[in-house]
Amino acid sequence: MSCLPFREAISARLDGEPLGVPAAELDRHLAGCASCTDWAADAALVTRRTRLAAAPPVPDLTAAVLAALPRELPGVAAAARSRLLGTALRLGLLAVGVAQAGLAWPALASGQAAMSAPLHVTHETGAWSLGLAAAFLAVAAAPRLAAGTLPFLGTFTAFLVPVTLADLGAGHVHADRAVVHLLLLAGLALVATIAWRGRRRRSRAVSRQRVPA
Ligand SMILES: [Zn+2]
Repeated sequence: MSCLPFREAISARLDGEPLGVPAAELDRHLAGCASCTDWAADAALVTRRTRLAAAPPVPDLTAAVLAALPRELPGVAAAARSRLLGTALRLGLLAVGVAQAGLAWPALASGQAAMSAPLHVTHETGAWSLGLAAAFLAVAAAPRLAAGTLPFLGTFTAFLVPVTLADLGAGHVHADRAVVHLLLLAGLALVATIAWRGRRRRSRAVSRQRVPA
């Protein structure tokens, strides 16, 4: 009987391919054929050496891959700018709050404000000014409070600005006293901006959490 089909089967068995002859028949032949047994041993050795051979050298692409990466991940610069703007807004509000408190204090302490009014009205005005200062400072310290202060700050500003303009026109108030109210406008603008930014950030966070269906 020819050894050729069995040697093809031995080779196929080493490669994990279909033998082409029944496995039992191949084993029976190997048991009785020393030549094929030797051939199978040699073939197994060659196959093993081939599989253990060193991998072909591949170029080291580490430097090229690192060089191709963007210097910064997208969004990092934008996030840094956003943090910077948030900090600047809070510092601005801190300055407005301190200035507002500075205006309130003399009126509260001595009743000597830059306006002629009964003493209690001056005290009351000082208390209002201090309340405004506290609101500004609270939002500067905890920006999440911004939206909650808007109804008060917005209403106060919306009524104070037109009556101040009317009083200026009628000569009921000195310009230097009216200029003080610019502090209120600046504080309101800062608080509104902080509230708007916080709302936008929260809505983005919610839309990220939403799981696609
Ligand atoms: Zn044989």
